[in-house]
Amino acid sequence: MTTDKKASDKWRAATRSVRGGTARSGFNETSEAIFMNSGYVYDTAAEAEASFDGTGPERFVYSRFANPTVAMFEERLALLEGASYCRGTASGMSAVWNALIACTKAGGRVVGSRALFGSCEFILTTLLPRFGVETELVDGTDHAAWEKALSKPADAVFIETPSNPTLEVIDIAFVVDLAHKAGAKVVVDNVFATPILQKPMELGADIVVYSATKHIDGQGRCLGGAILFNDKEWHDNHLTTFLRHTGPSMSPFNAWVLLKGLETLGLRVDQHIRNATALAGFLSEQPQVSRVIYPGLESHPQHELAMKQMSGRGGGLIAIELAGGKSAAFSLLDNLQLIDISNNLGDAKSLATHPWTTTHQRVPAEDKITMGITEGMLRLSVGLEDIDDLKEDLTAALRV
Ligand SMILES: *Cc1c(COP(=O)(O)O)cnc(C)c1O
Repeated sequence: MTTDKKASDKWRAATRSVRGGTARSGFNETSEAIFMNSGYVYDTAAEAEASFDGTGPERFVYSRFANPTVAMFEERLALLEGASYCRGTASGMSAVWNALIACTKAGGRVVGSRALFGSCEFILTTLLPRFGVETELVDGTDHAAWEKALSKPADAVFIETPSNPTLEVIDIAFVVDLAHKAGAKVVVDNVFATPILQKPMELGADIVVYSATKHIDGQGRCLGGAILFNDKEWHDNHLTTFLRHTGPSMSPFNAWVLLKGLETLGLRVDQHIRNATALAGFLSEQPQVSRVIYPGLESHPQHELAMKQMSGRGGGLIAIELAGGKSAAFSLLDNLQLIDISNNLGDAKSLATHPWTTTHQRVPAEDKITMGITEGMLRLSVGLEDIDDLKEDLTAALRV
C-alpha cells in the first residue's frame, strides 16, 4: 500500500480532500478500505524482531501505533492543512490533551486564551495544575495581557479562534511572535474555522488540533480528533511516545467515516457559511435579538482581523443574545420545530444550544461573564438546510 506522494504535493485543496492519502490494497478498491484489525503478522521471527528494533522496513505492527485506514485519514488531512505530520486521535479532547501534555511537564508553564471550549478550559485550569504545570488564562483579544503573560518563559500557548461560543477572534501571528520569544510552542484549536478557512501554521503556529467530530465528519456520526504539526523532533521524541504508550487511538472505522467526510468538507463548509451569513443578517433585524455575534458581520469587534485570518469569511457559527435573557433563550429553543437543541456543532443539521446551562455549565458564573457568555446567549451551528426553512423556523419561534 503506497500513495503517489509526488502527485499529491501538486494537487490543489479540492483534489487533496478527495484523493489525498488513498492507498489501495491488492483488490484495487475505489473507495478506501476499512482495515478493522488490531494486529499484523510476520513471515518470520527475524522480521518481527527487525520491525521492533527499527532495522527493518517501516510497516504496521499494532493498531495502537498505526493502522492503514487511520494513516489514510492522517495523510489526507495533513495534505489539506499543509502539515508534515498528522496524528489521528479518538476525540477532539484527546487531541487537545495529548498535544499539550507532550509540550510540557511538571514545573512547566502553559498560557491560554480565556474564551475556551468547556473541556479545554478544564484541562488548563484544573488538570494541568494537578500535574504541577502552572497555567494562566488571558483575554485573547487583549494584546497587553498577552505581552505580560508571555514576558515569562512558557512551554506552550493554547488558543481557540474563533472561540466557542463567543466567537472571539485572536490575532494568531501576534501571539505566535510573543510565544516563540517566550520559548513556547503555539497550539491552535482550529475547530470553528476548519482547514478550509484558516491555516494557523501559515501564520507561524506550531501545532493545530481538531475535533474531527465537528465539520470534518459534519454528519453527526462519530468522534475523532487530529494533531497536525511540522516538527520531526517533537514527533519522534514527544508526541509519538505519548500516543503509543497512552493509547488514545482513532478507530479504523471512524477514520474511514472521517475520510469520507473530508471528501465533501469544502463543499459543506461553503454552504454552512452561505446559510450562516444570510442568517446573521436576518437575526440582526429581529427586535427580540439584542446582539448578533458573527465574525462575518462588520459589527463584530474583530471583524477586520477575522476577514484577514479566515479567508474573508465568517464561518458557520453564530452567537446571539436575546433581550429577554434566559427565559427568552429557553422559549426560543423550545419553540423551534426544525432546528434541534443540541450541544454538537458543525453538523449538516442546524443545532442550537444554550452555553450557560450546557457546554459551559460547570464554569463558575463570574468566569462565564468574563468569558463573554451571558444567560441570554444562544449558539447556532448553521446547517445545510434550505435557508428559507431556517428563517421561517426562527421567525415562528421568536414570535411565541
Ligand atoms: C468539540 C470541541 C472540542 C472537543 O472535541 P470532541 O471531539 O468532542 O472531543 C474541542 N475544541 C472545540 C473548539 C470544540 O468545539
